[in-house]
Amino acid sequence: MKIIFLGTNGWYDSPTGNTVCILIETDKASILLDAGNGLYKADRYIGPDKPVHLFISHTHLDHIIGLHILNKFEFKQGLTIHTQPGTGTALQTMFSSTYSLPFANLSYPVGIEEFEGLYKNQSFEVQTAKMEHSVPTIGFRISVKNKIIAYCPDTGYCDNAVKLAKEADLLIAECAYRPGEESENWPHLNPETAAKIAVEAQTKQLALIHFDAYRYPTMESRQLAQKTAQSIFPNTVATADEQFIEF
Ligand SMILES: [Zn+2]
Ligand SMILES: [Zn+2]
Repeated sequence: MKIIFLGTNGWYDSPTGNTVCILIETDKASILLDAGNGLYKADRYIGPDKPVHLFISHTHLDHIIGLHILNKFEFKQGLTIHTQPGTGTALQTMFSSTYSLPFANLSYPVGIEEFEGLYKNQSFEVQTAKMEHSVPTIGFRISVKNKIIAYCPDTGYCDNAVKLAKEADLLIAECAYRPGEESENWPHLNPETAAKIAVEAQTKQLALIHFDAYRYPTMESRQLAQKTAQSIFPNTVATADEQFIEF
């Protein structure tokens, strides 16, 4: 199994990378987490003849704008978009002919499934938990091939984030804020709060992602975030586009 960080920016694309998209490539399925602009690189890694499952955390544009690129792909086994209750219609509207190519006009089947709680199929399981953000946002805990991967997208520090990451093999956590920075009105993690979640959840590894493009203009600034988080949780890596972790 390979986890490839296709897009690692938050908010907008910049020379540091594309907006957030993660691919978990397994033998039986391709699992995508969020659909920022990094999604356009998916066909460099997704094998043919496997079903593709995309899990959307929330509808802020940096997490869905990549859906505009779907007509680039040929997902022969189809694409299922898993999203929160109430957001399926919003996605259909945003990706209608007024703004993009409608899902129904793609060369492969696209299904939209609203869900909350547990999603299960023959090769993997996904459990959701509500995050703390300015709009309804869910995080994901993925069980695949005896490994647990937790993804905490846009959120402030919260108990659900710790529960989601409990003893995970890998926690992928957003890091929009700089060290020491926080805001109650617009909750996001910084390196310290992401590391605190990893410590409390006793995860094995922490990967920081969703670096706000304005606050983290260079890869050096991400290295500083990595160093800050490592002082609390040593096994931390600051991700970069197309970097990967293999199990
Ligand atoms: Zn975001
Ligand atoms: Zn957001």
